[in-house]
Amino acid sequence: MNNFFLNKTKEFSKDLKNEIINYRRHFHKYPELSFNEFETSKFICKELDILKIPYRNKIAKTGIVAVLQGKSKSKKISKKIIAIRSDMDALPIKEENNISYKSKNEGIMHACGHDVHMACLLGVARILKKLENYFSRKIYLIFQPAEEILPGGAKLLLEENIFTEEPEIVIAQHISPFIEVGNIALRKGLYMASCDEIYIKILSEGGHAAMPEKTIDTVLISCHIVIALQQIISRNKPANLPAVLSFGKIETGGAQNIIPKEVKIEGTLRTMDEEWRKKTKEKIKKIVNLMAESMGAKSEVKILDGYPVLKNDENISKKAEKLGKKFLGANKVKNLEISMASEDFSYFSQKYPSLFFRIGTKNKEEKNIKKQHTSTFDIDENALEVGSGIMSYLALSL
Ligand SMILES: [Zn+2]
Repeated sequence: MNNFFLNKTKEFSKDLKNEIINYRRHFHKYPELSFNEFETSKFICKELDILKIPYRNKIAKTGIVAVLQGKSKSKKISKKIIAIRSDMDALPIKEENNISYKSKNEGIMHACGHDVHMACLLGVARILKKLENYFSRKIYLIFQPAEEILPGGAKLLLEENIFTEEPEIVIAQHISPFIEVGNIALRKGLYMASCDEIYIKILSEGGHAAMPEKTIDTVLISCHIVIALQQIISRNKPANLPAVLSFGKIETGGAQNIIPKEVKIEGTLRTMDEEWRKKTKEKIKKIVNLMAESMGAKSEVKILDGYPVLKNDENISKKAEKLGKKFLGANKVKNLEISMASEDFSYFSQKYPSLFFRIGTKNKEEKNIKKQHTSTFDIDENALEVGSGIMSYLALSL
């Protein structure tokens, strides 16, 4: 049966290539920001209606969960329950590409490839629909809003009991402009970091910079605190644990002769261990509050919980690697390095055995990499045939 699915998913993704490219161009032309994917959502529902695939929509505002139930009665065929997730949102970037499908929504652009993920998932819907008499699995197709902003659509979606029967495997793909088209890449086990946003305020009465003894110097205290917090990374972190603590913004509002009343410090904490993450957030609060107090200032620390650690299931990853090689060719499945970026698919991976892999969108001939989150980002559209084909094959064979 595996070779039947291998051949059919290859054949159908090739046949549907142009239509899947058109889906992507439509999404690209009409991008919408996080939690505002209303037209995007309507378009997807319309396509699911045409395919006669049942779905629930308006989940976490604009999310859709469609269900494909295989119709094969054969007892030999696996009845596994699989879910495939695509994100839906675009970014607040003004597109600078000169292409026929350039964004029509001023200042908004699909610059992270979520248009590609949605188009591929609609491609999967079409491929699996053609094959529904040959499998008996239940396959959920999840279109998820707002991957780009906290609290993330994945968290809200999962709070809404989207599954009538819990999935045994959840998979998702994300484009990579660093990997050549025709390849995928994956990592077994820990892959992406957790991410928390840190907001600190150091407060005093402020005063004249010529008379620091008459006030409390919020700037100097802030400098001490930023440096002291780095001891968490150098002294409290196990050497084998990846973690980053960066402060990218210090805003004082003072002047050469004014000690300000308030200093704002903003940063990010990223790591790969949920226990250590929890302890570290407490430690940051303690260090800031006690240091500020010891030097006479007041302090406020707010830490916004971002996305958790993303861990790929070892067994699913191994199996997907084998299947990927069969589908694409022996040297077309690459290994991924650990990444300190974060992704809200991690909420799925915390709850279900999961796999999040990368699909190459880099054009072989082009010298310049068109990086994500930039105004000139674009992809080699051959990736759409690969993305819908491999996803369909994995959904039927994992
Ligand atoms: Zn993305």
